Parts: sequence; structure tokens; C-alpha cells
Amino acid sequence: MPIEKTLVVIKPDGMKRRLAGLAIDRLENAGFELIGAKVVSVTEKLAHEHYALLKGQPFFPNLIKFIMGDYHDVSNRRVLAMVYRGENAIKGVRAVVGATSPEDAAPGTIRNAFGRINSKAGYYENVVHASGNAMEADREVKIWFKPEELVE
Ligand code: ADP
Ligand code: MG
Repeated sequence: MPIEKTLVVIKPDGMKRRLAGLAIDRLENAGFELIGAKVVSVTEKLAHEHYALLKGQPFFPNLIKFIMGDYHDVSNRRVLAMVYRGENAIKGVRAVVGATSPEDAAPGTIRNAFGRINSKAGYYENVVHASGNAMEADREVKIWFKPEELVE
């Protein structure tokens, strides 16, 4: 099985609800190795780069505001960005995180247990971001981390 790297971000909803430790605990128990981590205040530029592939989606404007912390804590905007490494880490981390919509996420996943849909505002509070495939993981790790910030 290939050794992969993947990006995980505890989103502003997860930070506000103090779920970062829980997510780290689950990923650690699943056997993935943390090789980079930092608290980041997401700029508009970073938000657009990170979600570039979703530009044009109806929920895109909300998504940019969401990841920047506009809906959770504008006076203390922050996310926790991490890189995990391990065998089949991309799929494996997604399995711990769960499907995009908290309504679809399987029991036992982080998004099933802690995610929710803000139906009035039209966004998902799904606690964590995890890269979706090898192309995205490669792209996202480079956007968020300099090579020297990873312990390899
Ligand atoms: P994932 O985060 O599971 O990889 P996507 O890459 O498809 O999901 O979408 C990125 C993020 O955009 C999701 O985590 C969620 O916050 C938001 N999103 C995706 N689809 C929708 C939707 N139909 N309505 C509202 N928000 C959505
Ligand atoms: Mg995705």
C-alpha cells in the first residue's frame, strides 16, 4: 500500500466547539502520523486557493466566508491545519472524517457524530476538511505548508 500525505483542517466550527483534540485523537488511533501542524488565520487568498476547484458552486461564497471564520469567531479567526502521513492515508483519513454532508456521513465518523447542517444559512458545519484524492492532497499540502514545515 502506498505511503501518502494528506491535508486535514479543523474548520472554524470545529475550533469554536473545541473538537480539535477529539479529531486528533481519532486520527492518531487510526494509525496516521502527524508530520505538520499549525494554527492559521485563513485569508481570502488562501480560502480561494484552497477551494479553487469548487468555484462556481452555489455554496462557494458561503464556503469562503465559512473557512475564514466569518460565521464562528471573527474576533479570533483560526483553523488548525495538519498533514498526516500513512499507508493509504488519503482514503483512510476520509473514512475517519466521513462523507461531506453530516446527513450522509456513516455512524462512527467525526462528521456523523459532530457535524450539522445549518439549513437556514445553507452551509454544512462539518468540523473537518480532509483531502479528497491524491491530486487534491498534493495540491493542498503545498498550499498550506512549506516543505520545511513538515517533519519527514
Ligand atoms: P469534502 O469536504 O467532503 O471534500 P467537497 O470538497 O465536495 O466536500 O466540498 C467542500 C466543502 O464545501 C464541504 O466540506 C462543505 O463544507 C461544503 N459543501 C459541499 N457541498 C455542499 C452543499 N451541497 N451545500 C453546502 N455546502 C457544501
Ligand atoms: Mg473536498
